This record gives sequence, C-alpha cells and structure tokens, in this order.
Amino acid sequence: MNHNQTPNITRDLNKDDLIVITGAGGFIAGALARYFHDLDFTRIRAIDKKPLPDWYQQVPGVESLSMDLSDKDNCIRAVEGAVEVYNLAADMGGMGFIERFRVECLRSILINTHMIEAAYNAGVKRYFFSSSACAYNTELQKDPDSRALKESDAYPAMAERGYGWEKLVSEMFCEEYWAERGMKTFIARFHNVYGPDGTWDGGREKAPAAMCRKVIEAKDSGAHDIIIWGDGHQTRSFMYIDDCVLGIDLITHCDELIATPINLGSSDLVSINTLVDLVEEIGGIKLERKYDLDAPTGVAGRNSDNTFIRQVLNWEPGMPLNDGMRETYTWIEQQFVDRKAGKKTVTDQF
Ligand code: NAD
Repeated sequence: MNHNQTPNITRDLNKDDLIVITGAGGFIAGALARYFHDLDFTRIRAIDKKPLPDWYQQVPGVESLSMDLSDKDNCIRAVEGAVEVYNLAADMGGMGFIERFRVECLRSILINTHMIEAAYNAGVKRYFFSSSACAYNTELQKDPDSRALKESDAYPAMAERGYGWEKLVSEMFCEEYWAERGMKTFIARFHNVYGPDGTWDGGREKAPAAMCRKVIEAKDSGAHDIIIWGDGHQTRSFMYIDDCVLGIDLITHCDELIATPINLGSSDLVSINTLVDLVEEIGGIKLERKYDLDAPTGVAGRNSDNTFIRQVLNWEPGMPLNDGMRETYTWIEQQFVDRKAGKKTVTDQF
C-alpha cells in the first residue's frame, strides 16, 4: 500500500460511546472534535479553559464545556462516563511563547497528571496524550542538517527547557499507567502542525501562520519587507492538520502502540527561508528580508524519522506543504480581512 493512502481503522468504540477531547477550544483538538463528529460519533465532550465565545471552532452537537483542567475536581467531572480520552490541553505556542514562558509550559504537567488519574479511576478504555518533538534531546538538533529524529532519540534526555521536559514527564506517566495499572495509553510526538483554524497572531502563533500573516500584512501596508526570526537557515518539517487528526485516530486504535511514543509529523524538511519563498509565491509578492538574530528560534534543525510509523501503521502524513500552505494562507487572509472589517477572528492574546 502507498504510505499516504488512508488505512482502515478498527475501533472498539460504539458510535454513542462518550469521547472526551481536551484543549478543544484550540487548534488541533478543535479539529479533532470536528473529525469525530463528521465520522458520526454522537457523544463528544469538548473541554477548554477558554470561555466558549473564544473557541476557535465550536462543533454543533458536541457538548462544549469551559473548565480549567489543571484542577483535579474538574478533571473528574470532565471524564465522567468517558470511553476514550484525548488530552491535548496545554499552555503552549510557537518559539516566541515557549522560550519566554517556561513556567507556564511546565505547569501543564498538572493537566495530564489529573486527567490521567481521573481517566484511570473512571475506567477509560483508551487515553491519548499529545507529546511533542520538543521532548527530543536538543544536543541532536544543533545543525540545520541534523539527521531526522527517531523515537529512541529522546534518551539520554536533554529536552527543550520547560515545554519539552513537561512533555517527557507526562509521557512517562502514560507509560507507567499502562505498565503498573493496565490502562491503554497512546503517545504521539507531534512535529509542527499547521493549517486553518489555528493561532495566527497574538504571540502564540507558529512559523507557517506567522509567515502567512507577515506576507499578507506587507501586501496590505505596501511596506514590502519581512522580518524573519533567526538567519532563516533553521530547518523544520510541517504537518497539515488533517494528517494530524487522522494520525491521532490511527495511533489510538493500534494496540501495538500502547504506551509507546511515536513520531507524528511530516518528514519533508524545509528551511525557514524556503518556507518564506513558498508563502511569497502564494501571495504573489517578493519581499525584502530582514533577519532578527536576537529573536527566539529554537533548535537549529529538526525532522521526523518516519520509519517506525510507516512500519506499524503503513501510513505517514502526506499532505504536500505547497497545498497545505495554500489552504492556510487563504484562511489567514480571510481572517485578516475580517479583522479589518471589525469582525471577531481567531486571535490569541496573552
Ligand atoms: P492550542 O494552544 O491551539 O490549544 C491548546 C488548548 O489548550 C488551548 O485552547 C488552551 O486554552 C487549552 N488549555 C490550556 N490550559 C488548559 C487548562 N488548564 N484547562 C483546559 N484547557 C487548557 O495548541 P495546539 O497547537 O492545538 O496544541 C494541542 C496539543 O498539541 C498541545 O498539547 C501541544 O503541546 C501539542 N503540540 C502541538 C504542536 C503544534 O505544532 N501545534 C506541536 C507539538 C505538540
């Protein structure tokens, strides 16, 4: 089978079993709620600490609750009756956020700690945790041409300060809840996710959305320059949101992956300069580049080694960056127009 074809998914889940999704006022979990809803699952409980009007998307027919899940009692309430739990809530953002707010990132440990215990006590059958490529040893990512990261590269550990360590310890919780208590847990290490309905302004946005916004702003203002964080040679891979939610479903329903961290990302490595080339092409403009060498940039190079996911799932994320970025650009451009017209948009302030 071609690795980009959608494999069959066998789920031990009835259409009216309760699925709980946390962080659903945000980007990925919001898309996941829509994904399960579109697959005709009839009982989905979506939770986020944001007030409901600030959610990026609210899916009709989905129970939507505004609750802070760093609080133990709220977690107990959140998982009542749940058969599957997808825990994606975290205080996070792009490099501009995670390099500056390490305490906030570390405090997300409270969310997974309470959620997994509550899920275990409620008899949840499957528990998914969204980890990150930031859990990998940073020593292996000091060069833009660094080799792609395979799952065993997290140890010996030297994760990204703050955010990466929280993910690594939360992964360990998932592993031990299986080993000691027998709850089926699943752990995906996401590599940068992008697409429509994500953060595009306000300080938490990531590179693909930030580049789209900057190009759109430059076109709008007529000041034909763009500020790029770092020297533009840093490299990353970017996974489209549709691949991400499908991957979450595939991983959570694969017993071979119980308590086993797995990369969920694209293996198509690009430099930030190449990403800017692409967005300029989409926007139909060439801008003068100014490099801010003091801005936060994270590691020099990071890619996903997809050997393991191909082997276990016979699948890997396959949306071409060109196509995914076109979708994303079009959506952000509309957001920009809406904001100028005084309409409410998906922006995050902190
Ligand atoms: P996001 O910021 O859009 O969504 C996270 C949501 O969690 C937010 O809406 C936030 O309000 C909510 N949240 C934070 N603290 C909470 C709390 N105490 N109680 C309830 N809700 C709370 O981020 P995202 O990009 O959708 O990320 C989802 C998950 O995927 C996170 O765990 C993140 O660490 C992980 N991840 C994302 C990426 C990426 O590229 N987007 C990469 C690696 C890992």
